[in-house]
Amino acid sequence: MTRRNNHGLYYDALSPAFGTLVDSLRGKRVAVVGHARPDGDCIGSQVALARLLRAAGTEAVCVNRDPVPRRLEFLCRDEVFAAPGDWKGDGYLAVAVDCADPDRPGVEVRDLFHGFEVNIDHHISNTAYAAHNFVDRAAAATAEVLAAMSFDNDWEIDPVAAQGLYVGMATDTGQFRFPSTSPRVFEIAARLQRLGADPALASNHLYERESMAKMKLLETFLSSLRLECDGRACIGVLPRGTFEKTGAGAEDTEGLVDYARCIEGVDIAAIMEDRGDETKGSLRAGDARFRVNDLASAFEGGGHACAAGFTAGKGFEQFYPEFLKALQSHFREVDSGGGTD
Ligand code: 5GP
Ligand code: MN
Repeated sequence: MTRRNNHGLYYDALSPAFGTLVDSLRGKRVAVVGHARPDGDCIGSQVALARLLRAAGTEAVCVNRDPVPRRLEFLCRDEVFAAPGDWKGDGYLAVAVDCADPDRPGVEVRDLFHGFEVNIDHHISNTAYAAHNFVDRAAAATAEVLAAMSFDNDWEIDPVAAQGLYVGMATDTGQFRFPSTSPRVFEIAARLQRLGADPALASNHLYERESMAKMKLLETFLSSLRLECDGRACIGVLPRGTFEKTGAGAEDTEGLVDYARCIEGVDIAAIMEDRGDETKGSLRAGDARFRVNDLASAFEGGGHACAAGFTAGKGFEQFYPEFLKALQSHFREVDSGGGTD
């Protein structure tokens, strides 16, 4: 997967099929759908795909349940993001990007369409839910899959699309640090930089424009950290009312869990957002061996081996003992070499 095959393509089968699909969409109207609480890979891939489709003669609009986070606005330029409520979706075919399953966009978005026509993604838990599925579970980012298929088809990638795809790859690899950072990731990132992606500008927007509210949120999170399972797990909590108290928004939680993950000896890290009647959990592993997607699936969530999440139907205090039990048995299973993959 890290190098081009004998035909000079990244994807022997996917790319020609994607070329045929994009041809077939000419003259049609397409909604490029992203997931709830969109991240860099989601927004970057949506912007890039919308531009590619327009260049190929298709009307395209990006559709998301939640707004584009402030730090990602620089990727959007004149791209319009529609939200369910003001936008009805009549006559539009739905193309999902970075969504492992049809519920990831949020039910409000899912229900605008009669199913998904296309699914472009890289999650190992992807359920191949669309009429046409373009999924590479070995890819580091949806943006990587999209960039590789675009290069294979010799499509022009303009500087705005290049920046979106670059940011998708940079953010989903944790700035090229996670184990998913393959030689192909660097190769594609270099090609995108030559087409106009600007890594320095991107990191300035992404990481050097923090608000004071975000720092207050970080303070709350850090002071809540607790070690469990003999120091192999570190869990932080955002109690109810944290957002009101700090002035931070939901998007400011991004990256917090990494402080718990980077402690020496910690194999699994978690951030738990107490919402009163439910708990949103975000899980990270330092190594794919710890398959946090399996742990998340115990609570009807999912994701990748190193990054996963779930929403449990109980407040944090009630949920925590249950989570600890699942965590302990997950460690036992991983340590004994058992599991599903
Ligand atoms: P985050 O922790 O950044 O919100 O999400 C990390 C990854 O976990 C996401 O890319 C997504 O694949 C997965 N994920 C997060 N929350 C959920 C969830 O509620 N359900 C499922 N199926 N996956 C989730
Ligand atoms: Mn992604």
